[in-house]
Amino acid sequence: MDKATLKYYRTIGQVQQAVNKATTLDEALHDGLGIILDCAGADCAIVWYYDRSDNKMHPYYWLCPCDLTSQEYKAGAGCVGSSYANNEAVRMLEYSRGMDPDTDRIFGEASGNGAGSTGLDISAVIVAPFGDAQDSMGCIQFLYLDGRHATEEEADVCEIMTMMVAMSIQDSDHIEMPYVKHEILLSARDITREYQNGETVTRVLKGASIDVYKGEFLAVLGESGCGKSTLLNIIGGLDKATSGSFSFMGKDMTNATQEELTKYRRDNIGFIFQSYNLMTNLNARQNLDLIGELVDDPMKSEDALKLVKLEDRMDNYPSQLSGGQQQRVSIARALIKKPQMIFADEPTAALDYETSIEVLKVLENVIADGTTLLMVTHNTEITKMADRVVKIRDGRTYEVTVNRHRVKAADLVW
Ligand code: ADP
Repeated sequence: MDKATLKYYRTIGQVQQAVNKATTLDEALHDGLGIILDCAGADCAIVWYYDRSDNKMHPYYWLCPCDLTSQEYKAGAGCVGSSYANNEAVRMLEYSRGMDPDTDRIFGEASGNGAGSTGLDISAVIVAPFGDAQDSMGCIQFLYLDGRHATEEEADVCEIMTMMVAMSIQDSDHIEMPYVKHEILLSARDITREYQNGETVTRVLKGASIDVYKGEFLAVLGESGCGKSTLLNIIGGLDKATSGSFSFMGKDMTNATQEELTKYRRDNIGFIFQSYNLMTNLNARQNLDLIGELVDDPMKSEDALKLVKLEDRMDNYPSQLSGGQQQRVSIARALIKKPQMIFADEPTAALDYETSIEVLKVLENVIADGTTLLMVTHNTEITKMADRVVKIRDGRTYEVTVNRHRVKAADLVW
């Protein structure tokens, strides 16, 4: 047996082991696909799922540095749609832009020229169907990037391994209905933000995309200075993007006027910042009353303060409250509007460990009630609480991951 064949057999074994060891489908795909990418020399793997109700292919899981949540191929259309419909692999070993307009659309303007939105310079595409083994799933799309073309042998690996994954998934008993359709509350695409200071142009965001599902806790993680707050300010209606688009509850907000943005913020978003921004001459209850007066149908200030366990501190002024307590007042102030969504920008960055956990526990209770939370943080440990994590690197969406096991605030350590 030659070396290459031996390597393939070894990989098959590893994939089988990984899938069997996994306790959820996400875990199986994460571990299995990682091994396959190594073996096939590919950069991205995207599992597409066929949904009978709309006759479209939707991304179910991906190891790929962009948010594909709301992308779709029509069944039969593009490389993914046709691979699934015909139960046949598609090989585009030397991909260039224009070869598959659906793929160009989904991965943005970047395909083939290296510039633009998702930042992916796609140079080879291989799509392999799951075949009859896994009727409820569709296929896996493999991407090669940055000028690297795929070989026929690598395409063979992608195809064989896809069949392996399908069979292993079918054989394992831990996997049920894989695809959960999420309602998208907010969707932002290819957001850029430039600042002009005299002659100098600083590009802070270079094509960030993000989707927020209704009811989820989404963490946005990245090194300090990578553009997280800038992105949050744009999708929170506090700042305007240089280019790109965003929509909220299906309404396009890209060209919203200042008045429309103010209304959007007031009616839908509760903000929590690192600094509490409380009025020092008003007590906790009055700080909340102030916001309650601005919106229709607010929560009672007393009820909001109860939610953050400050019912016995309602009459205290900020100077009489600890940092953690002040932050809890600011959480109650965000809740009083009964917002569709809460945006929290590093809410614990100014607090010590113990106080941070106290504040995170309060947020944990808030999301348990079904509130959607988007939290920006540079603290990896905190992201373990979230349902999903969007990583931002150098102004772009770098990776989106699903947390298979969420960790309770009380169990976080840093
Ligand atoms: P993060 O939240 O990830 O720490 P920010 O979004 O706050 O990052 O900032 C990203 C980058 O944008 C930083 O390098 C910051 O210096 C730069 N930046 C922010 N505001 C301006 C501005 N008005 N002019 C020029 N650069 C800015």
